[in-house]
Amino acid sequence: MQTFKFIRPADSAAAIAAAAQSKTAQQGADVRFMGGGTTLIDLMKLNVETPTRVLDINRLPLDKIEDTPDHGLRIGATVRNSDLAYHPRVQRDYSVLSQAILQGASAQIRNMATVGGNLLQRTRCVYFRDTAMPCNKREPGTGCPAITGSNRTLAILGTSEHCIATNPSDMCIALAALEATVQIQGTKGPRVIAFGDFHLLPGSTPQRETVLEPGDLITHITLPPPASGSKQLYLKLRDRASYEFALASAAVVLTITNGKITRARIALGGVGTKPWRSPEAEAALSGKAANDVTFRQAAEAALRGAKPQSENGFKIELAKRCLTHALCTAAAS
Ligand SMILES: Cc1cc2nc3c(=O)[nH]c(=O)nc-3n(C[C@H](O)[C@H](O)[C@H](O)COP(=O)(O)OP(=O)(O)OC[C@H]3O[C@@H](n4cnc5c(N)ncnc54)[C@H](O)[C@@H]3O)c2cc1C
Ligand code: SF4
Repeated sequence: MQTFKFIRPADSAAAIAAAAQSKTAQQGADVRFMGGGTTLIDLMKLNVETPTRVLDINRLPLDKIEDTPDHGLRIGATVRNSDLAYHPRVQRDYSVLSQAILQGASAQIRNMATVGGNLLQRTRCVYFRDTAMPCNKREPGTGCPAITGSNRTLAILGTSEHCIATNPSDMCIALAALEATVQIQGTKGPRVIAFGDFHLLPGSTPQRETVLEPGDLITHITLPPPASGSKQLYLKLRDRASYEFALASAAVVLTITNGKITRARIALGGVGTKPWRSPEAEAALSGKAANDVTFRQAAEAALRGAKPQSENGFKIELAKRCLTHALCTAAAS
C-alpha cells in the first residue's frame, strides 16, 4: 500500500475544497473522501486505489436520519448501514431498504459502512481487483479480459464491449425502487440527482461510474413519502446464504387494490452494470391482475434486453425466477 496523508477536514467546505484539487472524482482520484473505509481501504491494500490524500468525513454533521416536511426521510451520508436498516421509520415505511441492507456483507461491515460509501462501492470483478491484469475500468484502454474470461458473476444488462462489471450493491437496488434522490454539495453549490441518473452505464468510459465531479461530496439521500399501503420485498439469490454478493436480486414495491396492481416499482441487482430499475417490468405490471401469469410476464419483460457472456447465461432465468418469486411473495404478504 502506498503512503498517503490522512486528513480530518473541519467542515464540509474544507473537505470539498481539498477534494476539488483532484483531477477526477472517480478511479485514480488522488484525493478521496473516506466514510467507513470498507471499500476504499480494502482497495488501497490491493494497490487498486492509490490516493495520496484521504479525507476522513466522519466528523462532519452528516450522521442524522430526519423526517422531511412531506413525511419522506432525509438520510445523512455518514449514517451507518446498520443504523439505517434498524431505524423505526425505515423498518415501517421503507422495509425493502432495511431488508436489502441486512442481506449485504456482514454485521461488522454494516456497522462501519456508510450510506454515501455504499453508493460508490466498486465492482467485485476479479480482474479489476488484480493489478497484474488488464482492465478498462482500472486502467482505461488496456482491455476487458472478463468478456472472454471469468464472467460468471458479471452483468447481463447495461454492458458494453468495454466492460461488463456488475454493480454489487444491495442497498442501491432498494434505493432505485424507492425512487430516492442524492443530495450533492460541490464547488458550485448544492444539487439534487434522481437516483436513476446517479450511476452511469460503462459505455466506452467504464472508469467513470457516477455523475460526481471533483470535490463533490454526497451529503444526503432523500426518500420520497412512502406509497401508502405498499407491499415491499427484497429477495437476494447468491452462492451461499450469507456474506456473499447477489447473483440476482429483486426489490419490489407494489400497491394492489382489489386484486389489481395500481403501482409497481421494480429494481434488479446482481445483473446490471448499475442498480437496475426496470420500467419494462413496471409497465407489464401496471393495471394488471396480481397473479402468477402477470408476474412472470413482468420478469420476461425485465430481462428482454439481457446479453449473456460465456459463463453467466444462467443469470437470465435466475433473475426471472427471482423477480417472479419476489412479486408472488410480496403480493401474498
Ligand atoms: C467482505 C465484504 C463483503 C461485502 N458484501 C456486500 C454485500 O453483500 N452487499 C453489498 O451491498 N455490499 C457489500 N460489501 C460492500 C460494502 O457495503 C461497502 O464496502 C460499503 O457500503 C462502503 O461504504 P464505506 O462507508 O465503507 O465506503 P468507503 O470505503 O469509505 O468509500 C467508498 C467510496 O466512496 C467514496 N465516498 C465515501 N463517502 C462519500 C461521500 N459522502 N461523498 C462522496 N464520496 C464518498 C470514497 O471516496 C470511496 O471512493 C461488502 C464489503 C466487503 C469488504
Ligand atoms: S468487466 Fe470491467 S472491471 Fe472487469 S475486467 Fe472488464 S473492464 Fe475491468
